[in-house]
Amino acid sequence: TARLPAAISYLLLSPFSPLFHLSLGGGGKGKSWKWKDMLRFPHISQCMELAKTLERDYYSLCVKQPIGRQLFRLFCQSKPELRHCISLLDKMGEYEVKSDKEKRSFGMQIINRFLSRQGLCVLGIHLLLLCFYSDLHEYLSGDTFLQYQQSMYFDRFLQWKMIERQPVTKYIFRQYRMLGKGGFGEVWAFQARASGKMYACKKLEKTHVKKGRGEAMALNEKQILETLNSRFVVSLAYAYETKHSLCLVLTIMNGGDLRFHIYNMGTSGLEQDRVQFYAAEVCCGLHHLHQMNIVYRDLKPENILLDDNGHIRISDLGLAVTLSEGNLVRGRVGTLGYMAPEVIGHKYYGMSPDWWGLGCLVYEMTAGRSPFKGKGERLIGKEMERRIQEEEEEYGNIFNNETKDFCRLLLNKDPRHRLGCQGSGVYGVKSHPFFRTINFRRLEAGVIEPPFKPDPRAVYCQDVQDIDEFSTVKGVILEKTDKDFYVKFNTGSVAIPWQTEMIEMGCFKELNVFGPQGSRPPDLDW
Ligand code: ADP
Ligand code: MG
Ligand code: MG
Repeated sequence: TARLPAAISYLLLSPFSPLFHLSLGGGGKGKSWKWKDMLRFPHISQCMELAKTLERDYYSLCVKQPIGRQLFRLFCQSKPELRHCISLLDKMGEYEVKSDKEKRSFGMQIINRFLSRQGLCVLGIHLLLLCFYSDLHEYLSGDTFLQYQQSMYFDRFLQWKMIERQPVTKYIFRQYRMLGKGGFGEVWAFQARASGKMYACKKLEKTHVKKGRGEAMALNEKQILETLNSRFVVSLAYAYETKHSLCLVLTIMNGGDLRFHIYNMGTSGLEQDRVQFYAAEVCCGLHHLHQMNIVYRDLKPENILLDDNGHIRISDLGLAVTLSEGNLVRGRVGTLGYMAPEVIGHKYYGMSPDWWGLGCLVYEMTAGRSPFKGKGERLIGKEMERRIQEEEEEYGNIFNNETKDFCRLLLNKDPRHRLGCQGSGVYGVKSHPFFRTINFRRLEAGVIEPPFKPDPRAVYCQDVQDIDEFSTVKGVILEKTDKDFYVKFNTGSVAIPWQTEMIEMGCFKELNVFGPQGSRPPDLDW
């Protein structure tokens, strides 16, 4: 592509440019004028192959996939006998995330509505007993699920699924400013043309990947990211290739990284409530990874990114690895200064390096320096390793008792005695007095207001002009055998994030009309 003259590209790409902000205005603005063509339903007869091959799993189709969930609900709403079932399901969901104070009265409301004499009539004794005994989903996954698959709502699901599975190319996105630079390429602000949703696109230059033998690592990062679904880890929405690069399209995190917030905001170190809040969200992110048997191995302030609202997500999963059930792994990877003693010592380990990493992170957020290196001190690698393996870290007055105790337990040199690595696992960490003011249930539901909201006008990173251009390396020739790897990488949209985009940006609502009259089912209150 031809480069724009410098002055013009500044105007177009600079975060300070009025054009840039124009394009960022969420709420469905920024859709291409052709967006409805981009999302045109195929005729149902074209979905038959998909219908044959799609795995008929109730949880995946009706609970986890956002569009699948909406359509299943529309189906249930169309049957009077199921309408109450869905509404009870919703109320129970709401009940789960109420604060302890509100729970009692909200619980009473549910009981009054569903268990009163009239309630018994609307819900039916059978269903009512079911919700005492087991999960309502178990009930729905039976006959209801079978009937759903015969309905027009499921046909529509197949149509959406066909759109979701369209090949992804660079023409699906608009490109804005550069956000940062990684080992194999640049990260840019991107916008999906069909919906207007903003993303970060991490480009891996094919020549750089080949020269650095990064194929396995790139594929590993992509394959781990696509299995995750947590509000505390960046999501992968698309993976595709262009002539020169492999692209990972990720949740955009505009608020800068924690390193920037710890060191470049005038003070060094963060206030106690922010330290607790970020540590708690990181803890939830680690919990999600560990549940899937993934060790992250690269916990450090640089890799924790803030979004516009002040929530954080774990990013850069290049070093993460999936352990096979019950197995341990060995490997000296991570960033020196944040590596756990067992990693430096070349021992076998499980999830323990991540809890060490959390200890380092809480220490650094509190003190404004990392636990084994003084402010501005320059250290050779060997000395750093010695300190990590042998020296006790010191705690100044800035640490209160809970924080000190928390860090000490996490920075235990022996992984067998470290907090998080014992029988109670992550629950041991979450129940430490350091987190006494955090309600994890509400935090995981995303209903807790962050203590700090980034200024939407500020840019929390190094000036883009200071970041060197990424050049393609010369003398590396891409061959036919490289193609096999590109094919594995180039899988297009990822179901859950793509469907979330369609719903969040209003595309689902606007396009999901039924019938020749174009009638839409009534708006439903979920
Ligand atoms: P690498 O694995 O090569 O180190 P990273 O994933 O760390 O690459 O990305 C490089 C830089 O790009 C980061 O330091 C950060 O500044 C920026 N960046 C990465 N992911 C995002 C994102 N999701 N949103 C905003 N900026 C990002
Ligand atoms: Mg990085
Ligand atoms: Mg990386």
